[in-house]
Amino acid sequence: MSQVFNFGAGPAMLPRAVMEKAQKDFLNYNNLGAGLIEISHRSSEFEEVLSDCDSLLKELATIPDNYKILYMHGGAQMQFSAVPLNLLNLSSSKTASYIETGTWGVKARKECSRFGRSLTFASGAKSGFTEIPKIDPAALEPESAYVHITSNNTLYGTRWTAFPDFGDIPLVADMTSEFLSRKIDISKFGLIFAGLQKNLGPAGLAVVIVREDLVGSALQQTPALLDYKTCIDSHSLANTTNTFALYMMSLVLKWLKQEGGVDVIEARNELKAKIIYEVIDASNLYTGVSRQKDRSMMNVTFNFQNQDLLAPFINQAESSGLYALKGHRDVGGARASIYNAMPIEGCEALAQFMLDFEKKNS
Ligand SMILES: *Cc1c(COP(=O)(O)O)cnc(C)c1O
Repeated sequence: MSQVFNFGAGPAMLPRAVMEKAQKDFLNYNNLGAGLIEISHRSSEFEEVLSDCDSLLKELATIPDNYKILYMHGGAQMQFSAVPLNLLNLSSSKTASYIETGTWGVKARKECSRFGRSLTFASGAKSGFTEIPKIDPAALEPESAYVHITSNNTLYGTRWTAFPDFGDIPLVADMTSEFLSRKIDISKFGLIFAGLQKNLGPAGLAVVIVREDLVGSALQQTPALLDYKTCIDSHSLANTTNTFALYMMSLVLKWLKQEGGVDVIEARNELKAKIIYEVIDASNLYTGVSRQKDRSMMNVTFNFQNQDLLAPFINQAESSGLYALKGHRDVGGARASIYNAMPIEGCEALAQFMLDFEKKNS
């Protein structure tokens, strides 16, 4: 089997060099005579992995000193619970505001309503989530403990190009599908979280970056393992963590650093997205799903003037080594997820395939 270009939305492809290194290490980590996943999460070997994750994240994402980095179980969606559990007490009426730019934001707001008052402050539902709604910060409920946004919308292929500012009210961002794909000023956020499986490693864990002063007033019913304070005090080892996922992330972060860091990968990501969007924009067969001004660099979504062409497109693409291009069932059409690990050649191969497919079918 020759290697395919994997456009899956997540779990997603990892850099080839990372996969090869992990394979090489699997049975015999650092000449230990055992694999890393077979040894204690409190071993010096794993401690080194954890501290690599900390220092590389801090460096690559330029995380200021007054922020803590946590690794938590349950992927991105566990943070839909953890965020309100930890932060709602910052508001005397336990109120939080959500900006819904897609399904994930809606889910997050609904989860919050289990623990307090969760408001839809703005929604892109009217446009079918194909654009980011206009925000009037003056209209925000002043008692909001925080405002939750989804920075990149994986299903629809939209993203916030510039982020809203609510003054003293902290901004919380689900950055699962774009973390470390572009430069972000962390100091503009109270909290950022990202499930690992899009840009960072295997599924199941989330990275949480939280401003220190927001921690310590969790709701009384907060489970210990979801309390940010517990995680900080135990260096994310209150119980056995997913050592393999963190090891894989440490390799991904080393790879990213070697590639030149976030500035370099951002420029590459812009180029990659442009290669595909240019084909869509010049085409009579494909139509872009998201509004141009809000287009994602990570998830390129497109549909077909003639719906009958979708199935043959997906099938023929797969036979040509272009894997997992089917769009999300809620959106339809096709989606090319082109996270950091996708090489430029993958995007060029897809663009060429799209041009050839259009020629054959028009
Ligand atoms: C994939 C994704 C999620 C869900 O992640 P899980 O780890 O499965 O909970 C949440 N938010 C965004 C923006 C995503 O892309």
